[in-house]
Amino acid sequence: MDRIDLRSDTVTLPSDAMRAAMAAAPVGDDQYGEDPSVNRLQERVAGLLGKEAALFVPSGTMANQIGLKLLTRPGDEVVVGEEAHIVWHEAGASAANSGVQFTVAGKGGLFTAADFRSAHKPAGHIVFPPTTLVVIENTHNRGGGVIFPQDEVVAICRDASALGAGTYLDGARLFNAAVATGRSLAELAAPFDVVSVALSKGLGCPVGSLVAGTREAMQRAVRARRMFGGAMRQSGILAAAGLHALDRGLDHLAEDHANARRLAERIADTKADIDLATVQTNIVIFRLPPPLPDAATVVRRAQEQGVLVSAFAPRTIRATTHLNVTSAQCRHAADVLARILAP
Ligand SMILES: *Cc1c(COP(=O)(O)O)cnc(C)c1O
Repeated sequence: MDRIDLRSDTVTLPSDAMRAAMAAAPVGDDQYGEDPSVNRLQERVAGLLGKEAALFVPSGTMANQIGLKLLTRPGDEVVVGEEAHIVWHEAGASAANSGVQFTVAGKGGLFTAADFRSAHKPAGHIVFPPTTLVVIENTHNRGGGVIFPQDEVVAICRDASALGAGTYLDGARLFNAAVATGRSLAELAAPFDVVSVALSKGLGCPVGSLVAGTREAMQRAVRARRMFGGAMRQSGILAAAGLHALDRGLDHLAEDHANARRLAERIADTKADIDLATVQTNIVIFRLPPPLPDAATVVRRAQEQGVLVSAFAPRTIRATTHLNVTSAQCRHAADVLARILAP
C-alpha cells in the first residue's frame, strides 16, 4: 500500500482537474488589478463570507499577520484562545510585525464572553496595555479541530465591539466548521471585522488564503500585503485552483470528518488518551501516557508501516484527514496505530 500521510491536511496534491484549471486560467498583473482569475476568486470568496471585499494572499500566516496589522498598533494587547496558531505557529511574526502582546483566555482554544471580558484591559489606563483586538480560531487547530460555539462567537464579538476592540477570525479551517455545523460561511463570519480562510487546507489547493472585510479595510490590506512581500503578479494560476475547489463543492469535507471520527474511536479503544468530544472535524489529537512510547517513537513505528502522523508535543500525536486519504486508508492507518498503542 502507498504511504498514508496524515501529518496535515496541507499535504494534498492538486488533482489533474485542478492542474488543468490552473493551466487554463486567464491571468494578468494583479498589482495592476488586472488578473481576472484573482479578481473572480476575491469576489466569490467575499460573497461567500458576506464581506464587501476579499484579498488573495500567499498563506494563512500572512492573512493573520495582515489582520493583526490592520486592527492593532504596537504595544496593544490581543486576546486569544490557548495555543492559538497566531501565537504558536507563526515564528514570532506577531511580535515582530505588529509589536503586539497576547493574553490567553479560556481552555483548549475556546473561551466565553465572560472570559474575554475578564481578560480585556481598557484603553487610557495608566499602566495597562489596551486590548484592541480579539482573535477567534475556528476550527481550532491545536485544540483538535474543535468548532468555536457560534453563540459564544456572537457574544464575544458583541462585547468586543462595545468595548471598542476589533474582532478577527482565523478561519483557516472555516470550511470544515461550516460543513460540520451546517451553518453558512457568511453566518460564521458575520460577527467579525476581518476574516481569513485558507485554500491550502481541506480544499486541497497548493497555495493561498484570503482575507476579507470592508472595502476600506481591504484597501489598507493591499498595502500590508505589499509590506510583507506577498504582493504577487500572474497569481491567477493559483487563484484558479481555489475557484476549481469551490466549484467542486465542500461535500468531501464531511467524509474527512467521518474518517477522523472513526480513527479517533479506534484510538479510544487503546491505551492512548483521547477526548472524543474534541473530534468534531478532520483533526485527531491524542496523548501517550506512560508506559506507551513517546511521540517520536510512535511516529517512527507508524512510518515503518507506511503511516505518517505528527508529533505535536513530546507525548502528543496529531493525525489529520484530508482529500488525499480514502476511508479504507484511514481504516488501515487506524489498525497500524491501534497495534502500536495497545501492544
Ligand atoms: C494552517 C493554519 C494557518 C495558516 O497556515 P499557513 O501554513 O501559513 O498557510 C492559520 N491558522 C490556522 C488555524 C491554521 O491551521
